[in-house]
Amino acid sequence: MIKPKVAIQDSLRISRLSLALATLVAALITVQPAHALFFGYNQQAEAYKQQGEAAQEAQNYDMAINYFTSAINCCPYDAAQNLADLYYVRAIATDATGQYDRATRDWQASHDNFQKCVDQAQYNPGTNVAYDKEYADDLQRMINWRSTENPNTPNYMECGPMKRFATPGSVRVYVDTTEQSGFSYDLRYLIFQAMYQWCSFSGSPIRMEQWSTPEGAHIIVQRANAPGQIGFGAGGQTNNQDSVNAAGQDIMTKSFVRLTSPSYNSNNMSQVDKNKLYNLALHETGHALGIGGHSPSGLDAMYFKAPVLKLSDRDKATMRMMYQ
Ligand SMILES: [Zn+2]
Repeated sequence: MIKPKVAIQDSLRISRLSLALATLVAALITVQPAHALFFGYNQQAEAYKQQGEAAQEAQNYDMAINYFTSAINCCPYDAAQNLADLYYVRAIATDATGQYDRATRDWQASHDNFQKCVDQAQYNPGTNVAYDKEYADDLQRMINWRSTENPNTPNYMECGPMKRFATPGSVRVYVDTTEQSGFSYDLRYLIFQAMYQWCSFSGSPIRMEQWSTPEGAHIIVQRANAPGQIGFGAGGQTNNQDSVNAAGQDIMTKSFVRLTSPSYNSNNMSQVDKNKLYNLALHETGHALGIGGHSPSGLDAMYFKAPVLKLSDRDKATMRMMYQ
């Protein structure tokens, strides 16, 4: 009995909020061209934000937090759209340092500002209410969830649903190498390196073998090459196909992974681009192997915006337990 599963959509590291700020600036330019002074804080905040994002990409999170703080301090208290965006990016950077409670306060501040945008939309003609409302609602759910979570437990099994392959000791992995929907051999190698982290720690239940065709493979990895394959603003997506066995257990039969990449090969990719792809492959492989939810801790590869390039002890312990 094969049933389609809910897709796991990831908003990894590709921020649609940058778009929001750009849109806002554009809207201000068109709507209120006379208010030249009003641009002052916007430009300064944007400059700090960009420096923060550069620091974030270089994995210098403390510096990123400082820049985002400077950006926040440039904004008047009623610049809700900018503040929603800035608290959001600072929350991610803060989670990446493991300061869970401090990050939660930023998630809350981001939520409150998105909600303010919704509430005051009638006075602000440029507001994209649907967008702000989606963020406010998403963040409220996340804040509620975080309040029930402890990021320091030995594993995050409770963040399920967790599923499993019947034969974790021989998981066949096919990475598409066609130019249309796959990766060049050098990028395929990079993806395999990330995937193998899930096999190579002490006590890992997973063994993978490279498979040369999609037929017979358990995990199929392809490049996202068309709109709609991946949730808006996300970097990767994994769909699991599974069936219920005679004992009534939910067993995965195949996982389909889509990863975004700036190109088919690495010729024009910076180290930051490569790290992003590596990080995506590491994270999506966790889903492909059966981790159905996300860790609340920014130190884990399965955090929803995981910036990490290495599995944490909690990632490893969770995988061990899933296949016990
Ligand atoms: Zn995910």
